[in-house]
Amino acid sequence: MSKEYQQVSETLLHGEFGVYPTKGIRYALSLTRTGLHIQRLVPKPEDDQRTVLPILDMVGCHTLRSRSRGSSDIFAYFSIYSYPLKKKKVAMGSTRTRQRLVRTFRVDKAADYEQNQAIAEKWAISIKCLIQQIPISSETEILPDLQPRSRRLMLLLNPCGGRGNALQQCHTHILPIITEADISYNLIQTERQNHARELMQGINLEEWDGIVVISGDGLLFEVINGLMERPDWEEAIKIPIGILPCGSGNALAGAVNYNAGFDQAMGSELLLNCILLLCRGTVMPMDLVSVTTCSGTRSFSFLSVAWGFISDVDIESEKYRHMGSARFTVGTMVRVASLRTYRGRLSYLPVLDAHRPICRSITLSPNGSLAPLQRSQLHRTISDMGLCEERNVMCKRSSAAFDAELPSFETSPSPGSPTALHTSRFTFDIVSDDQSQQDHVLPNDKEPPAHNQVNGPKDDLLPPLDQPVPKSWITVEGDFVLVLGIYQTHLGADLFTAPFSCFDDGLIHLFFVKAGISRTALVRLFLAMEKGTHIEMECPYVVHVPVRAFRLEPLTRKGILTVDGEQVEYGPIQAQVHHGLGNLITGSGKIHMSSF
Ligand code: ADP
Ligand code: MG
Repeated sequence: MSKEYQQVSETLLHGEFGVYPTKGIRYALSLTRTGLHIQRLVPKPEDDQRTVLPILDMVGCHTLRSRSRGSSDIFAYFSIYSYPLKKKKVAMGSTRTRQRLVRTFRVDKAADYEQNQAIAEKWAISIKCLIQQIPISSETEILPDLQPRSRRLMLLLNPCGGRGNALQQCHTHILPIITEADISYNLIQTERQNHARELMQGINLEEWDGIVVISGDGLLFEVINGLMERPDWEEAIKIPIGILPCGSGNALAGAVNYNAGFDQAMGSELLLNCILLLCRGTVMPMDLVSVTTCSGTRSFSFLSVAWGFISDVDIESEKYRHMGSARFTVGTMVRVASLRTYRGRLSYLPVLDAHRPICRSITLSPNGSLAPLQRSQLHRTISDMGLCEERNVMCKRSSAAFDAELPSFETSPSPGSPTALHTSRFTFDIVSDDQSQQDHVLPNDKEPPAHNQVNGPKDDLLPPLDQPVPKSWITVEGDFVLVLGIYQTHLGADLFTAPFSCFDDGLIHLFFVKAGISRTALVRLFLAMEKGTHIEMECPYVVHVPVRAFRLEPLTRKGILTVDGEQVEYGPIQAQVHHGLGNLITGSGKIHMSSF
């Protein structure tokens, strides 16, 4: 038996208890690191009735005393709050949703209340430690000072996010559960765009254990950049940040959910998963990407930089906001119907040493055994994914016959002066039956934002935007359907775009789709992205490269550029990853921050 297995299956506490409210029933309880094992003793069941409450489903545990405080009631109680997945009947079969389950046990071993209360307290503290992944063993003396401190969170709610029902979700789901988890909070509703960003300037960091947005990705972007505008940004950006998905774009929540080993989820199921993870409260470092736009404005991004198809859908689908996340499906269909291509130049610094193991390797299964995550087919090394595909592009270039079929792209390993690339370019676009597309006028370019400049670490990999990129970079020039730099696994709660990505892998996963892809292939690509299987499609028009930095120079006059789903000014843009600059509340992962 492995040491890890012995550790997770070790009994930390064992005892016999009554139960509330039913009289006469007694249970034997054993607490291990992964669950509470409950066995009914009296009345003796015919078969061996055991159930397990997984720690992963629990959010908190409270001790209680009977209201009738007469001398007769010497019992103490402890209640465990959990949210297991239960089958629920729906119109087309059944689905699994989390439902609240409270189990209350009566401590009646001792002859006086104080001793029973001490036992109840010991169980409650141990369960709370396990939920919050504070290491304890059967040797740990469970004393009151081991009790995890109640955490203080600033909750920022965007009443306009998603379908505009964040406040209702907050009252129905979020506040009741985090109260059971002993989290204290201040709930602030944002009054306008950039309100959260401004609030971050003035907060006293000492007062908070974390900042959590109840919204979509856009509000978190504000929080991160507000923190980076502070003179003490270096310290400020270390405050744990979290997200409870109530927007229409919930990519980071999708990534947090995936990181925890949960099935891909949407809507309130995703929200409940994320609330559970927030109650667990572990934190992981998260890469942030410094993005500079043509006016020199710099911002810090946690999710993506997008140009072409993806940013068009994101911004143009604003008008379908009332549909919630379905707005992206409708937007995708509309944009596929009038598919556009964009001429541009993309330069990047590839990561040649990306031969490193995926950090998400082992997870605990509910029965306590150590098991690899189910999605093992996706556990390839990054170099398998990206560099091979990049080589693919290079090979195609060396074949003249192939070049004739895919003539709209140039790949230059050492571009020298960018203008040198203009020589042998073709313009070829097999999709385009809408030749006026290049002149299609998109919404007005975004003005540079009026807020302060962010601070932050120096972008040591990036030359100024008006100077050529270093010789070691690779440049491709041609007609693109889309360019996407992504640093999370998910681009939306149900868009598993970069399965191999980790919060702190120090990588930007650069994807681009070249002009020439058919509409059908593009639709197939996005449909497969729901499960992450698009990576295996090996579509010759799709390229993925892990990079540390990139520059995109749009050569098409009009277009939309987004950073974390928010529109930014259109023009040359460049980005560099800053490894582990922020801290994300993930609720799972190896790192436990004592401050949270
Ligand atoms: P969604 O995923 O639905 O787009 P976001 O959290 O991304 O939700 O928010 C959308 C936009 O709303 C962001 O640009 C954010 O800055 C902005 N915003 C935040 N608070 C408010 C508010 N009170 N009123 C209007 N816009 C807001
Ligand atoms: Mg990453």
